[in-house]
Amino acid sequence: MSEIKLSELTFQAIVEASPSAILLVNKVGRIVYVNTLAEKLFEYERNELIGQLIEILIPDRFKAKHPHCREEFVKSPVSRPMGGNRDLFAIKKSKKEFPVEIGLNPLVTADETLILTSIIDITERKKMESIVKEQMLQLESKNHELERFNYIASHDLQEPLRTILNFTQIIEEDFSGKIDDEVFSYLYPIRDSAQRMQVLVRSLLDFSRLGRNSTVSEVNCNNLLKEVMADLNSIINENNVKITSDTLPVLKVYEVEFRQLFQNLINNAIKFSKKEVRPEISIGCSDHGAYVEFYVSDNGIGIEQKDFDKIFWIFHRLNIDEKSEGYGIGLANCKKIVEMHGGKIWVESKLDAGSIFKFTIQKQK
Ligand code: ADP
Repeated sequence: MSEIKLSELTFQAIVEASPSAILLVNKVGRIVYVNTLAEKLFEYERNELIGQLIEILIPDRFKAKHPHCREEFVKSPVSRPMGGNRDLFAIKKSKKEFPVEIGLNPLVTADETLILTSIIDITERKKMESIVKEQMLQLESKNHELERFNYIASHDLQEPLRTILNFTQIIEEDFSGKIDDEVFSYLYPIRDSAQRMQVLVRSLLDFSRLGRNSTVSEVNCNNLLKEVMADLNSIINENNVKITSDTLPVLKVYEVEFRQLFQNLINNAIKFSKKEVRPEISIGCSDHGAYVEFYVSDNGIGIEQKDFDKIFWIFHRLNIDEKSEGYGIGLANCKKIVEMHGGKIWVESKLDAGSIFKFTIQKQK
């Protein structure tokens, strides 16, 4: 068998084995070869396509421009996907249009340069993309709806709570001795519960306001950490806390919220320290190119693996029998703040063996 015949057969075998539809087009745009998948995809017999202009497979509205694009490719033929970021479409014999991805490769033969065109039908991928996009939009709108509800509900709940507290105060002040002691004693739990609810409602309102009206600015995280430690000075001293930190970067962040993030994590690291053990907190970060990963580690009471996700839920607390105060909103705030920065937050811990809270922050351009 001649070498030319052999290489022709090898070429055919390779093209037929390809998982894509393949067409070979000459420099004036005529189809010179078609593989079986291309026949199936375009619903033509091979002999109906050979010799035709490639434009037979292109929807009418793109036809006029195509010869020019083809000529441009022939002038400087390099392997590349076709269309840049444009959506590409092809058309079947039955006139059914479908979205495609097309790869162009020059094939230099002894006589001429041909264009090896591989075509993938991306109908299913496009369908999935549009389903995902639609679901994302629905999710976003639901989130906004929830935020609005949260804001309105927590805002409007404040007024009736204020009324309850005002009236308990009036009864306490004006009716002491005038009403039965037992009835009077019921006032305290009413007042305490209303006060607690007031804090919860306020926290909820703050949570829903997080990030509203705030803008990103360049922040030196070392200075920010110093300020946080100054704010927490009394609890740091009271508990004889040892804090060490790496040199931190300058980043574009929502400054007020970013400060709150560190404040919550350091505050928790102290709050959930072990009795009789000097609290040690270490803060650091590593650069990962597009994002920075921070950590805040402690030698405190630790967290069981089953609670790793739950602690970030709003109003979810674990150590409620501890003396520690709290409403279970700190870490929910942290999660929201980190997500505002395009990042994630998680914990690595073992019960009784300290915790490391880690979070990422996308670098803003
Ligand atoms: P709060 O501190 O008001 O209870 P958070 O949302 O800040 O609420 O924390 C939720 C729960 O996660 C806490 O109740 C606690 O059980 C647990 N937790 C948070 N930080 C730590 C920590 N550093 N070590 C151990 N447990 C922690």
